[in-house]
Amino acid sequence: MKILKVDHIGIAVRNLAESAKLYDLLGIEPAGMEEVAEQKVKVAFYPLGDTEIELLESTSPDGPIAKYLEKNGEGIQHLALRVDNLEAALSELKAKGVRLIDEKPRYGAGGAKIAFIHPKSTGGILLELSERT
Ligand code: ZN
Repeated sequence: MKILKVDHIGIAVRNLAESAKLYDLLGIEPAGMEEVAEQKVKVAFYPLGDTEIELLESTSPDGPIAKYLEKNGEGIQHLALRVDNLEAALSELKAKGVRLIDEKPRYGAGGAKIAFIHPKSTGGILLELSERT
């Protein structure tokens, strides 16, 4: 497996429109917004150099972002690393004993294939692996 770069930083917010004000102040233009029904989130993307900031607002009180906000409040929720081959990365990590949340890739915002690694195996960081074609 090969890690290519920091793909994005995922930030949990209560309200995308409210949080967008900060990025307006910073002069960072949004590149788009998408709702990912499977993860019960609305996502706004802010490209920044070779990476992106991803703002995540929950669309349901029982979604993973709603649960995160309830427990931790707003803030950085995950770090995403881009890999060249997600399926190969997952089987390699599994073979090395890394605890995975997703053993198979699933759909991520922007048409990426993504999978999460359990924070128990990463020193407390929710790590997303992402592959874009
Ligand atoms: Zn993400």
